[in-house]
Amino acid sequence: MIKDQLQEIRNRIKEAALRVGRDEEEVTLIAVSKTYSVEAIEEAMIEGCRDFGENQVQELIGKIDAIPKDVNWHLIGHLQTNKVKYIIGKTALIHSVDSLKLAEEIEKQSAKKNQITSILVEVNVAEEASKYGFKCEEVVEVMKKLNTMSHIKVEGLMTVAPFVEDAEENRPIFRKLYELSVDIQKQKLDNISNTILSMGMSNDYEIAIEEGATMIRLGTAIFGNRDYGKKN
Ligand SMILES: *Cc1c(COP(=O)(O)O)cnc(C)c1O
Repeated sequence: MIKDQLQEIRNRIKEAALRVGRDEEEVTLIAVSKTYSVEAIEEAMIEGCRDFGENQVQELIGKIDAIPKDVNWHLIGHLQTNKVKYIIGKTALIHSVDSLKLAEEIEKQSAKKNQITSILVEVNVAEEASKYGFKCEEVVEVMKKLNTMSHIKVEGLMTVAPFVEDAEENRPIFRKLYELSVDIQKQKLDNISNTILSMGMSNDYEIAIEEGATMIRLGTAIFGNRDYGKKN
């Protein structure tokens, strides 16, 4: 089943990319494995997945220990500053840097471990009260500050778009994040590579790809519906 879902998703990624003259290779599929079992992750690995996303530190660390293989782990959920020390050196990318305080803690803990930690800056493009992230108009100033932190490497931007019935409704959100990344590029900040746009989830990833996503984060589309009752 995971196999069939992945095949279908990869076809759709390819078609969405083709529609706007992009190459499917530009889009990294992150399998969001939060709440799913180690067995499900292993099944996805057999089908070629090497990038997995988790939104909780404890679950992430548990899975890293259970799956001692060549896997890129992405932290995609809100990160509390007091938990930063547990994950430095373990993630390929932290997608959810949503405050300067958090960035400073990542800088501090990374310096301690002599690491450079790759991050994305989370932007609350839709300005939903329930969501984390900077406002669009704050991001350029934030980038200038992050540019001075030598143990952080800013690789780009991330957003969690609203849940909508019709994925088309999120097109302006994705377009706005893309435009913001162009604005940041113009600043020519030397520590900011800004090539990644992490946007698009199970219900709207094709639209996100059409609008420039380079990372999409899919959970239910790959693994089926989540059972939150099973854990904790
Ligand atoms: C859970 C989650 C996803 C995946 O959501 P699906 O709708 O299952 O694809 C993507 N991004 C973030 C930040 C998440 O927390």
